[in-house]
Amino acid sequence: MDIISIYAITAGGVFVALFLISILPYLCQLTKSLEVYISRYLIFPLFLRRHRFVGPWTRGAVLIHLLYTGVNLFCLCFGVSSPTEFADRSGTLAVVNMVASYTAGHVSFYSDILSISRHTCLQIHRATAWMVSGLLVLHVVLISTIQRGLSLDRTSNLFALIGAGCVVGLAVFALPYIHRHIFEVFLRTHQVLAYFLLYATWRHVGSDNRLSRICIITTFVLLSMALLLQLGFLIYRNKIFSLHGWPRARVSCNRPKIEGKDDSDVIIQVRVALTRPARIEAGQYINLWMPSVTWWSWAQVHPFMVTSWSHSAQEALDILIQPRHGFSRELLKHARAAPQGSASLRALIIGPHGMSENVDRYESVVLVASGFGIAAAIPYLKKLVYSYNTSASRTRRVHLVWEVETLDIAIAVQATLNSLLEDDVLKKRYILTISIYVKSGQIIGDVMKFGNHDRAVVYNGNANYDQILQAEMSGELIERLPNANEEKGESVVMGKRRPREPIYVC
Ligand SMILES: Cc1cc2nc3c(=O)[nH]c(=O)nc-3n(C[C@H](O)[C@H](O)[C@H](O)COP(=O)(O)OP(=O)(O)OC[C@H]3O[C@@H](n4cnc5c(N)ncnc54)[C@H](O)[C@@H]3O)c2cc1C
Repeated sequence: MDIISIYAITAGGVFVALFLISILPYLCQLTKSLEVYISRYLIFPLFLRRHRFVGPWTRGAVLIHLLYTGVNLFCLCFGVSSPTEFADRSGTLAVVNMVASYTAGHVSFYSDILSISRHTCLQIHRATAWMVSGLLVLHVVLISTIQRGLSLDRTSNLFALIGAGCVVGLAVFALPYIHRHIFEVFLRTHQVLAYFLLYATWRHVGSDNRLSRICIITTFVLLSMALLLQLGFLIYRNKIFSLHGWPRARVSCNRPKIEGKDDSDVIIQVRVALTRPARIEAGQYINLWMPSVTWWSWAQVHPFMVTSWSHSAQEALDILIQPRHGFSRELLKHARAAPQGSASLRALIIGPHGMSENVDRYESVVLVASGFGIAAAIPYLKKLVYSYNTSASRTRRVHLVWEVETLDIAIAVQATLNSLLEDDVLKKRYILTISIYVKSGQIIGDVMKFGNHDRAVVYNGNANYDQILQAEMSGELIERLPNANEEKGESVVMGKRRPREPIYVC
């Protein structure tokens, strides 16, 4: 290239860069408006409400699934000249979809790498798994029709049959009943069958089908990478080979066993003393491995939200656990059996995982939680109060709206909420207001103060969200300087009914 061309390209580049810089604010604004538009018309409106077996489906999710199905149908049918080609294509397409399905199955790991939520990652896993199953069934039916039956003398046919059996097994073990009631059985069989399917596909696919072979190798590499890196993080995070021993957790609960009363309102409090301090953002969770809780717990890893928050690395992590039927119930037994009121058990963590919403940029934040969903709200409250006290955020008002069945769970986290309210007066003004709605009608009268603070109030019945949100969004609840023509800032509503659900932001 001659010197004049270089000069011309450089000068042109400078002008293009200047132009891009000048339109950057408009592009940002356009992205923001587009975000609001997409949220309003696609992400929040439901296409199908929650039913016993299906739903809820949002319009956006339905559209993306239709698009995904359409693209696959197009790839399957476009320019097909014979039934054999159609059958081969369905098999190859199934293997191509397998890469995404298997990868998204490592939910915590790949959702972090791809910066998507755990919920989205699971949706990708589910959608691609259905697509793989459908295409494989189509492939098997077409091939056996064309060949008039499958001769099992051929190795490739034998592995096709094994693969088909794995698909049926995967579908059966993914049934909601099994998934909900024997989660560990579901998880382990799902993993074993998935690996068998991958192996069977490898043995079934001929060496001439290069695309399928590349996809299977890619899947295997991605899976191995996820496993090795997670193992590496586990060793590093917990200093497994250190001479000081493994991290331990103190496990306690808020009340002893009461005859005739179930434990649905019991909270198990776990404090994991880390061997290596960890920085955890608000809204992130860890996978907890406590091998000595039961004979079987060495094979279990459970995800829990971290309720403690600090602007720097934390040396101990707090977790609130709701007793269910498996691991958590056993943990409760340990806590109750401990003579000093708390049991000390070995506990290793993997993570942190999950995304954190940048709440500091909003003027008004409404956090909506129900029951144990409070576990996800607490770290955000801590962060918001800290940022306000250190003038590191724009936030001027935070309202926690918490619906509970009975007051017991609120009493169990009273100390945490009180300390938040106390921290919130450092600037002689406060931003935090807490409204607790008790469904069981446990309080006398309609309204009661919660603790010694006027800013935490307990109400009887359900929250009236229309009224609450209208008042918050109007900006009138924020104290403003008289005669100052202040512009109203942005507001955000974040909600989580259960800890495992995604934080919805609108
Ligand atoms: C991101 C995330 C954060 C969570 N945070 C909290 C929290 O802060 N506090 C809390 O009490 N619970 C939380 N949960 C739910 C918690 O992980 C389960 O309640 C716990 O694993 C139940 O263990 P169990 O053996 O006692 O359950 P079981 O009684 O055997 O099963 C109860 C339900 O828990 C689910 N479950 C069981 N094992 C697992 C597992 N290994 N991974 C994922 N889900 C499982 C199953 O869907 C099942 O329906 C969170 C879940 C997720 C996905």
